Amino acid sequence: MTPRAAFDDQALLALWEQALPLPAAAREALLAAACGGDGHAGSVGAQRRQLLAALRPWLGERPALQGRCPACGEAVAFELALAPLLQALEGDAPAGEQQLDVAGWRLRFRLPRLQDIAEFDAGHADAAAVEAFVQQLLQRCVLAAEQGGTPQPVAALPAPVAEALSQRMEALDPAATLAFDLACPACGHGWSAPFDPARALWACLQTAAERTLLEVDALASRYGWSEPQVLALSPARRRAYLQLAGVA
Ligand SMILES: [Zn+2]
Repeated sequence: MTPRAAFDDQALLALWEQALPLPAAAREALLAAACGGDGHAGSVGAQRRQLLAALRPWLGERPALQGRCPACGEAVAFELALAPLLQALEGDAPAGEQQLDVAGWRLRFRLPRLQDIAEFDAGHADAAAVEAFVQQLLQRCVLAAEQGGTPQPVAALPAPVAEALSQRMEALDPAATLAFDLACPACGHGWSAPFDPARALWACLQTAAERTLLEVDALASRYGWSEPQVLALSPARRRAYLQLAGVA
């Protein structure tokens, strides 16, 4: 049984209902706020670190996860050690203006903020949408670009310079882009598997909310109780009545 330490059932169902219709980024902000963050300030990495920590009561300290090899499709199991990961990600991303000198270019930039990625839903974007999003993000985050001392429009950044900028941004706020290096035991292919703590937490909440609804349904049908009456039962009593009703 999944531990529900983080929320009581009333709060769990209320959060589930509120988060269900939201696009991914808005849902992430809502979940982070429910887990103690303010949901709108701070770096992207700070929010994702908070969500990662919120997974602990649900998944334990070393949850077993699964990736899929992009080369051959083999399922690859790996373990996520939460405590060392959270420790490695400690520390805040720098808030102010940053500078990067690369390949004759000098860029002044800031890190992406939550608002910058809020409308973007990576799960439902095709390649053109991703490219448009990256361009929009560059326009917002690159404050000035110069090549050999001459100001240049952000749209003129060559791909390798944009890539170097992206790598610097990741290094400055590592919790914003969580990924794990995996190797496929079947074909030997190695790849970096992204991990989305908001999606993982949402999966835990959904499973727990659906189970709670099934329990309410079972006891309401059997005893004629209302939802608040079922939710007000202590866990031990609810379990006992579910056993008596023959559903646990
Ligand atoms: Zn493979």
